[in-house]
Amino acid sequence: MSEAFYSDGLRFECRRCSACCRGEPGFVFLTRPDVLRILKRLGIDFRTFYADYCRSTDTGLGMALSLKEKPGYDCVFWGEEGCSIYEDRPVQCSTYPFWASILESRSRWDEESAYCPGVGKGELRGGASIEERLERRRAEKILIFEYEEDPQAADIDGEARRGQ
Ligand code: SF4
Ligand code: SF4
Repeated sequence: MSEAFYSDGLRFECRRCSACCRGEPGFVFLTRPDVLRILKRLGIDFRTFYADYCRSTDTGLGMALSLKEKPGYDCVFWGEEGCSIYEDRPVQCSTYPFWASILESRSRWDEESAYCPGVGKGELRGGASIEERLERRRAEKILIFEYEEDPQAADIDGEARRGQ
């Protein structure tokens, strides 16, 4: 099998422009570890988190949790100082732009620079660290509830307590 085009590394440095956090509609899907981490950071229960910060999206397989958007399509966690939960942001955010869909080809990676000014700039990220991000994204599945399931009845708070 031929080596991935990124095996010798790719340049990326976040310019903190916030283009990936605001101004356009999109979805930030949440994994179970994302939710547990954010609950701990905010010190709130899952019912409150669900009501104030989440929306449900039909994936065809069930209802996935994603972050709400403010009017104008800013992420619910974006503010004048940038991401208010930066250290605990969802894995979808922390692994960007090293997503499988963007790394499918060199041309697709290059195209992403039209959207993200950090792509192709700054620090060289090695192939191993890119693979590590891909694996993290693969390993952490999006949290999806059955159609008939009430997300607010899920024992996420119990999991959060057991994880403390
Ligand atoms: S679009 Fe790129 S450079 Fe801008 S904040 Fe997002 S990751 Fe950083
Ligand atoms: S959670 Fe933070 S990093 Fe992710 S889209 Fe929202 S503001 Fe941006």
